[in-house]
Amino acid sequence: MNDTVIARGGCLCGAVRYEVVDEPYKVSWCHCRTCRKATGAPAVVMVMFDEGAVRYSTGTPARYESSPGVTRTHCARCGTPLTWEGQWDGRMVFELHAGTLDEPGRFAPTRHAFVDHRIDWVRFGDGLPEFDQAGPST
Ligand SMILES: [Zn+2]
Ligand SMILES: [Zn+2]
Repeated sequence: MNDTVIARGGCLCGAVRYEVVDEPYKVSWCHCRTCRKATGAPAVVMVMFDEGAVRYSTGTPARYESSPGVTRTHCARCGTPLTWEGQWDGRMVFELHAGTLDEPGRFAPTRHAFVDHRIDWVRFGDGLPEFDQAGPST
């Protein structure tokens, strides 16, 4: 595991801050209903890392089990959704909400996932591949 910090981020109020020390496994738009409810946004970008690639430098988020084996975290003070944590492709992964990065442009999405849940008026035209459900593992 590399120990060089390559990105930083945190919640709106600053009570929770994190550091990223490894490159992401994948970066994906997610149109699923659960992400929508958890964030209030019509779609989100999730940046997936292996467990251990992200560490908290200030505070720790509140945890919520959004489905069996899946934990979503948020700042208990300001409410910012921060992560999705669970099993993916047989391993524990840690997904950050891209909008919480200080420089969200650092990790660009390469796909749309759960387009079977997409809201009718959501239009992108970005040419990225689209998948029902989660799509292929990488
Ligand atoms: Zn906060
Ligand atoms: Zn989702």
